[in-house]
Amino acid sequence: MEPSEQTTGAAPAWQVLPTRDAELGEGMTIRRALPTRGRRMIGAWCFLDHFGPVDVATGEGMRVGPHPHTGLQTFTWPLAGELFHRDSLGCQQLIRPGAVNLMTAGRGISHSEESPPEHVPTLHGAQLWIALPEAQRHIEPAFEHYPAMPVVERGGFRVTVLAGESLGEQAPTRVYSPLVGLDLAAPGDAALVLPLRPDFEYGALVLAGEARLAGGALVPGQLLYLGRGRESLEVSGAAGLRLLLLGGAPFGEDVLMWWNFVGRTREELAEYVSAWNAGDPRFGTVRGYAGDRLPAPRPPWAAA
Ligand code: MN
Repeated sequence: MEPSEQTTGAAPAWQVLPTRDAELGEGMTIRRALPTRGRRMIGAWCFLDHFGPVDVATGEGMRVGPHPHTGLQTFTWPLAGELFHRDSLGCQQLIRPGAVNLMTAGRGISHSEESPPEHVPTLHGAQLWIALPEAQRHIEPAFEHYPAMPVVERGGFRVTVLAGESLGEQAPTRVYSPLVGLDLAAPGDAALVLPLRPDFEYGALVLAGEARLAGGALVPGQLLYLGRGRESLEVSGAAGLRLLLLGGAPFGEDVLMWWNFVGRTREELAEYVSAWNAGDPRFGTVRGYAGDRLPAPRPPWAAA
């Protein structure tokens, strides 16, 4: 991929970008909102998948075999259903709605994600990545499970603070650059003027229902880029709305991504691919997953 050509001017924006369908693991289609054509990152948020809602009453549900990561944190936020995480640090964790799994890849980790054998019939949620800054991208890997996140009731919304600070609540999730992540849920009609930081850029993705944001409508399948320079944001919606609002200081480093790796140069990404496919111990071993590890596709720029 080419380095970002997008601007990060200080002016507010109202730019709707379509998500694109992608295959996740063994045959589950998801909507990818980041990176997408026209938008690579929002602050340090560099990847956003919206999965489901999908009926997993019959069949195995989600099955993503052991695969590696570098240079990022994975952030798992289920709205419905259950997922079981295993990683090369030996962590095994069932996650349910309301909780967050935060895995810091640093210099290298591997993990698998799957629906547990007995699972509720619907799977729905968001999977995000946060790019690690240069000073932290080679740190030791870590995994943290947060069973409950701070929630603020405001204007008819239930606002969950997933990362950073908003409405007087600080999320417990450990992140490494100035950013914010909010989940807004409307049990009924809701309207709120949400304070923003003008030095942050923001974006929004509707996971269910329809939102009005700064006067315009937003539905699932659309990423809204809001730019910088806003002091506040008018948000409203009706019962059933679920909205993710992401923000952060423009990242300021040219990030390259290939497959599940985040790096800075093509050579580095090609080296990660070779290392994983050769079984390099830096990525450890995921134990207990009933299936094969996923091979890394070779990037088109790598020598044969
Ligand atoms: Mn992963």
